[in-house]
Amino acid sequence: MPTPPFDTPVAAPPKTWKIAVLPGDGIGLEVTREAVKVLQALAARRPEISFEFAEHAVGAEVFRLTGNPLPDPVFEACRSADAILLGAMGLPNIRWPDGRELTPQIDLRERLDLYCGLRPIRLLDPADSPLKNGSARPIDLLIVRENTEGLFSSRQTRFDPGAASVSDQMRITRHGSERIFHAAFAQARQRRRKVTLVDKANVLPSMVFFRQVFQQVARQYPDLDTECVYVDAAALYLVQHPERFDVLVTENMFGDILSDLAAGLVGGMGMAPSADIGDRAAVFQPAHGTAPDIAGRGIANPVAAILSAAMMLDWLGSPETRQGAERIRQAVTRVLAQPQNRTPDLGGAISTSQMGDLIVSQL
Ligand code: ATP
Repeated sequence: MPTPPFDTPVAAPPKTWKIAVLPGDGIGLEVTREAVKVLQALAARRPEISFEFAEHAVGAEVFRLTGNPLPDPVFEACRSADAILLGAMGLPNIRWPDGRELTPQIDLRERLDLYCGLRPIRLLDPADSPLKNGSARPIDLLIVRENTEGLFSSRQTRFDPGAASVSDQMRITRHGSERIFHAAFAQARQRRRKVTLVDKANVLPSMVFFRQVFQQVARQYPDLDTECVYVDAAALYLVQHPERFDVLVTENMFGDILSDLAAGLVGGMGMAPSADIGDRAAVFQPAHGTAPDIAGRGIANPVAAILSAAMMLDWLGSPETRQGAERIRQAVTRVLAQPQNRTPDLGGAISTSQMGDLIVSQL
């Protein structure tokens, strides 16, 4: 998964990888437990891989108790860790006074400058796709989401509840665009060598600019196929012809929306891992939120969290951790090859921890 510029410059990997674990709220607690269980089982079987996990409380519950969803000592611990494994944060009934939900995971992305959101979407078993003829459509695409600007730029802006209108800004910078496009092209070189820009250049000036920068950067990658698709058409094509896509690159909000849509094609949010990567730090977390509707019942699907842990091993970048990532992915595929091995979101009846145990048993 990782490619330059994301390969960590690890001359001699540390003996023990320091992992900051932030389970967060809701099902974040439940799925992170399984991801850590799988990593521990991997380390137990592979003495050349060793982890030191430091768990920290963050999120809406911590905000309720302390007034800060991401306490400073936790942020410092994250900054000094080799990687950060995160569950999910935020609860609908705990909000800032202006009504917005707490999103410390977005604060973390911005403060660590984790500009590149990688969201791989792979259909592991055709039975889990809601599309007709699932088996005829290999779905294997990667959404590269710009994480630090776009339509999320105004998210901290205060507004007057009595105002007659409120506006949000779509902020696109040349620097932010160039670095995310380079990241997308680098990913495509490790995949099927096609990059689709998703924009709204037929309407928004910021998106005309985004497309211009894309086309300029694309000239440095003559070996790759490129195309530009409007975001509304991209939503249509993702449902009708997901197999036509390899790497899709887009701004923050479009990436947020399309990654949920794409997750739906391969079984839902419980199947969608993600990584938020910067030049010096990275957070690995499932693409889903805290799922308050099912939290606390032990039925959340931990596969997205476990596959996110595999992405973390890829990013850590030693031959051993990369092999470990591959072993986890193979274990997940083997478990899902049995139709009965499904949590309720996939139509099955096994629990979160049973799914974790099955994956451990296949390592
Ligand atoms: P956020 O905005 O924080 O990403 P969200 O409001 O999009 O969160 P999610 O928490 O991702 O919502 O949940 C969306 C739906 O997907 C819910 O019905 C939830 O139960 C389901 N879901 C999410 N994650 C899982 C999971 N791991 N296993 C099973 N179902 C899940």
